Amino acid sequence: MIQKKNIKEYVFNRDKGICYHCGKPVRFNKMTLDHYFPKSLGGAEAYYNLVCSCKTCNRLKKSVVPKDWMTVNIELFKCAVVDGKITKASDVYIVQNQLVALTQKIETIFRNKVNTVFEGPGFRLYVKDNRIYKMVKFHQMEADSNFEPEFE
Ligand SMILES: [Zn+2]
Repeated sequence: MIQKKNIKEYVFNRDKGICYHCGKPVRFNKMTLDHYFPKSLGGAEAYYNLVCSCKTCNRLKKSVVPKDWMTVNIELFKCAVVDGKITKASDVYIVQNQLVALTQKIETIFRNKVNTVFEGPGFRLYVKDNRIYKMVKFHQMEADSNFEPEFE
């Protein structure tokens, strides 16, 4: 379990003490953690979904889902991986520098109430609570390949 204070310190430093919404500087003791994808709608309490916010912006935002939540979650996830904040289950076999390289290729997100799935070409990372608990690699069918069985 990650300490709330540690999360706050990390997010504050990562966002350089600037409110993610209005761009104004916030003092550490006045900052709030905003769930970018709203907590009330199942947004994760995780590094990739928490941003530095002033109290006013956090209050005004309420449960609005920002249009760019996917891009922001992906960017912040990459950041958290680079910063060594994302842990892996013991059966997820990938070394840190390969994981960093892989996350650079993430293109999209699927999410449900339980977890977030980050997907890139040929792979999926299943993430819950700042932890990759499953990694799936799959072969991609090339979109323009003509795969037709041959008959004699
Ligand atoms: Zn603000």
